[in-house]
Amino acid sequence: MRTPIESGVPDNKQYLHPLMARNYGNWKYHDRPRPGVLHHVAHSGDQIWTVRAGTQRQMDLFTIRKLCDIADTYADGHVRFTIRSNIEYMVSDPTRVEPLIEALTTNGFPVGGTGNSVSAIAHTQGWLHCDIPGTDASGAVKALMDELHEEFIKEEMPNRVHLSTSCCEINCGGQADIAIIVQHTKPPKINHDLVANMCERPTVVARCPVAAIRPAMVNGKPSLEIDESKCMCCGACYPPCPPMQINDPENSKLAIWVGGKNSNARGKPTFMKMVASGLPNNAPRWPEVSAMVKKILTTYKADARSWERMADWIDRIGWPAFFEKCDLPFTKYLIDDWRGSRASLNASTHIRF
Ligand code: SF4
Ligand code: SF4
Repeated sequence: MRTPIESGVPDNKQYLHPLMARNYGNWKYHDRPRPGVLHHVAHSGDQIWTVRAGTQRQMDLFTIRKLCDIADTYADGHVRFTIRSNIEYMVSDPTRVEPLIEALTTNGFPVGGTGNSVSAIAHTQGWLHCDIPGTDASGAVKALMDELHEEFIKEEMPNRVHLSTSCCEINCGGQADIAIIVQHTKPPKINHDLVANMCERPTVVARCPVAAIRPAMVNGKPSLEIDESKCMCCGACYPPCPPMQINDPENSKLAIWVGGKNSNARGKPTFMKMVASGLPNNAPRWPEVSAMVKKILTTYKADARSWERMADWIDRIGWPAFFEKCDLPFTKYLIDDWRGSRASLNASTHIRF
C-alpha cells in the first residue's frame, strides 16, 4: 500500500521537461510566434515551444487518455496544466509544433489562451467536489467558453481577459476582469426537524457575519431562527448547517462582477464590483449570463485602449460611462451598502463635475 506523504507537494523538478530542467532559472527571453504558442530561449541557446490548449476541466477518463496519447505521440509525454485548466505541451523541436496543434484541434481542444486573449475561465469546484454550490460552475463555464471560442484562439482583446465563476457567494473564485457569481436573494429556510441532529448551534450562530441567527426552541426541540431583516443572504450558515437550505431554483440567481485583478503588473491589484444582478440560474446553457458577459466584452474590446485591463479602462472612463457604454441599467441592488464600503464610496461633500 502506498503511504501518503503529508509534507506538501512533491518537488516539481522531477516532472519538468529535461530541457526546462537543464535551463532552470536561465532563460534569456520568450515570445509568442502565434496565439497559443510560447517560445522560450535559454542563455545556453536551447529553445522550447509550449503549445497551450483549452480543456473542459472536469474530464472523463477517455478524454484524459486522449490528451495523454497526444502527449506521447507529439511531445514525448510532457504536459502540465495551468491554473485555468488549460493543458500545455512542451516540445524542443520546432517542426513538431504544427502537427501537435493539428492533433489538438482535430480532437476538439482549441489552441489559444495566451497573450491578449480571453483565456479559459478559472472556475470553482461545483457540485462534483464541494458541498455548498448554488449552481454548476463547470456547466456555466463550458456554455460560456463555447461562445467565446473565437476570443480564446485569437489575441484581439486590448489586454488579457481573465474570467472566473463562483458557485457560492462566500468562498473560492478570486478576482477577475469579469466574474459570474451566485447571488442568493432570500434567507435560508430552516428544516427544524434536522437542526438538532445535524448542527452545532453555537458554531452556526457564530458563523453569521451580521448576527442574524439566534438559538430558539421550535416544537419543543432546540433549533435556530433567523432575523430576516438582518440576513444578507450570504449563504455562510449553510455549510456548517445543511438544514438551513438557501439554494432555491427561483431565488438563487447569478450576478456579474467586473474590474478585478490579482496581478501587480502595471498597477496594483483591484477588487471587482457588481454590475448586473438577478440573472436567472438557467441551466444547462445560461443564455442570459453569456449574453451579458459578451455585451461587456464587446464594449471593452471596442472602447479600451491598447494594454488597458478591464479595471484600467473603467478607471479612465468612470463607472457612469461604463454603465452607459455597456447599456446596463444601474439599479439599487448595485449600491455597495456593506459596512466596510465607506472606503470605496465617495463620502466627501465636494461636488464633482
Ligand atoms: S465557490 Fe463556493 S460552492 Fe463553489 S466550489 Fe468554491 S466554496 Fe464550493
Ligand atoms: S445567509 Fe448569511 S446573513 Fe443570512 S443568516 Fe445565514 S449566515 Fe447570516
